[in-house]
Amino acid sequence: MDRKEKALKILDILEKEFPDASTALIFKNPLELLVSTILSAQATDKLVNKVTETLFKKYKSASDFADAGIEELERDLSSVNFYRNKAKSVKGAAMKIVAEFGGRVPDTLEELTTLPGVGRKTANIVLGNAFGRNALAVDTHVKRVAGRLGLTASSDPDTIEEDLTSVIPPARWTKTTHLLIHHGRKTCKALKPDCPHCPIQAFCAYYREEFLKNKK
Ligand code: SF4
Repeated sequence: MDRKEKALKILDILEKEFPDASTALIFKNPLELLVSTILSAQATDKLVNKVTETLFKKYKSASDFADAGIEELERDLSSVNFYRNKAKSVKGAAMKIVAEFGGRVPDTLEELTTLPGVGRKTANIVLGNAFGRNALAVDTHVKRVAGRLGLTASSDPDTIEEDLTSVIPPARWTKTTHLLIHHGRKTCKALKPDCPHCPIQAFCAYYREEFLKNKK
């Protein structure tokens, strides 16, 4: 079975397992998703949603974030880890959105990745979920699960994105991100993957090469 066929079979099974897979971040527009995604680095979606529930009542536009005093913004984000860096990124991104994009979050990967604190992963999350584009984001779960499955041999997120998008049809890219994240959280956990109960074990390189071998 080639990599494309294998990827599609895996996705078909995960679609049945997680028919409603989508982002858990709560947002009403691209700006809110951009800010939430910046805040979500090494923080739970639950915590981010709790913080943004109040935050988005106070800051409603890119100008609001751009004009905020950095110390005040840090205080407003202080319950999230790395809040100083995140406040700097949010304010910096907002300032650039105001100065160069007329106050609207840009909707291309090239433009989004010019914003401070915004890499391909964040940009693809915003494109796929706020703009409805075909975009595959490689986070820690996608990286781990794709590697274990043998869909990529790389540990570099950009190469993993290329490996996956080269075998998965564009219309499935955004959903693929959510499916692999859900599977990574529920079954293919970082420390102890639940291989015996995994619905895609038949297609998994790690299962064949590590799990079964270690059982012998
Ligand atoms: S078989 Fe194990 S390693 Fe492979 S995808 Fe499933 S849980 Fe992850």
